[in-house]
Amino acid sequence: MTDDAVTPDRIDALRTRIAELMPGLRQDLEALTRIPSVSLDAFDQSHVEASAEAVAALLRAEGLAVEIVREGGRPAVIGHVDGPEGAPTVMLYAHHDVQPPGKDEDWDSAPFEPTEREGRVYARGIADDKAGVMAHIAALRAHHGTLPVGVTVFVEGEEEIGSDSLPTILERHGEKLRADAIVLADSMNWGIGEPALTTTLRGMIRVVVTVRTLDHGVHSGMFGGAVPDAIMALARLLSTLHDDEGNVAVKGLKSGEAADLEFTEEQLRTDSGLLDGVHTIGSGSLLSRMWTKPSITTIGIDAPTVSQASNTLVPQASAKISVRIAPDEDPAAAYRLVTDHLKAHAPWNAQVDVHLDESGAGFAADAQGPVYDQARAAFTDAWGTPPVDIGVGGSIPFVAAFAEKFPEAGILITGVEDPDTRAHGANESLHLGEFERVCVAEAVLFERLGTLKKG
Ligand SMILES: [Zn+2]
Repeated sequence: MTDDAVTPDRIDALRTRIAELMPGLRQDLEALTRIPSVSLDAFDQSHVEASAEAVAALLRAEGLAVEIVREGGRPAVIGHVDGPEGAPTVMLYAHHDVQPPGKDEDWDSAPFEPTEREGRVYARGIADDKAGVMAHIAALRAHHGTLPVGVTVFVEGEEEIGSDSLPTILERHGEKLRADAIVLADSMNWGIGEPALTTTLRGMIRVVVTVRTLDHGVHSGMFGGAVPDAIMALARLLSTLHDDEGNVAVKGLKSGEAADLEFTEEQLRTDSGLLDGVHTIGSGSLLSRMWTKPSITTIGIDAPTVSQASNTLVPQASAKISVRIAPDEDPAAAYRLVTDHLKAHAPWNAQVDVHLDESGAGFAADAQGPVYDQARAAFTDAWGTPPVDIGVGGSIPFVAAFAEKFPEAGILITGVEDPDTRAHGANESLHLGEFERVCVAEAVLFERLGTLKKG
């Protein structure tokens, strides 16, 4: 690929164009948000159909050839328009389904009636991810009739329930989605006025460990003191998963360093609700503990409840353990290491069984090369400050699926969210100023990617 310059005048023109388009974009965003497209089974799925139709109509209006595809799950929308001869193709991802709204009384305004307060608009899905959809529409509108790149848009309808049919969609329609650059608009910026590219996501495995010490429950007065019970054995086993500082003690798990960004213990305490006086755990920077190092948490235990407990040595107890793994860790390798650790640390030679409940790969972008250079430049044009690289401690299942399917493409994870968005929570909101900057960045990104002629 070769590189031509994008002039400051052209960037200004795109910024002005987005500003002119904002009222219409906001109107369309609010109309899309009024469709309560909750993809969870218990909700009326006709709304998810309606939101797919609404997205399809928005794309058709921009001149894209559009189809709605279903591969055993919710409807996804695929649109495409060719670019100039020899120009690269960019694929834009977002999702049109939303999380359930939760209880109405937790909201300060009706969840599906977008309401503006102090520069933010509140509604379920207005940020996650209908503003992601509209950022793509904004970039298309800004270039209407003279697109500098080929554009494919893929708007999924089941991200919030785990993207189960995405592998089938990629298998059957993947060739339509192939692109030189992929923009996955479903993440966040570092702060208001502080753009970010999400370059790492942790993966995860979930295992269930069962400990057995006795053939059946026996009287704790008769045998206690001579034979171990399973709850004590399980508790001791779980305690071996961390060292005294709280670092993961499973040998061989990968561990990386996060970007050097300002994030204080005070922020962590506020964000997480850590109780006064309770210490943080682990070592190294706080962000690397949450983004690039492994973590292990016991998320459930099967054992008699306190109210049903009797004076019995319990023969069997189980725990479900959630393991977040480094972005570049292989989930199968992590599962082997965790299993080996649990078996090797069985207290008193108790019987230990481990089985895998779920696993998902993380993501570590190769965050360099022409696509990343142009993205960083476009973000700098839009915000006046360069983007930082951030990680996300959780997983986004579709990202690994795209990375596996399109290893050649430059994958950019962008987003409209900021630390106050409260995606998935009550009073989810979108910051209007940030939304405009996201739209400018994507419009400028098209222009910049258009300078990367294929060759
Ligand atoms: Zn989302």
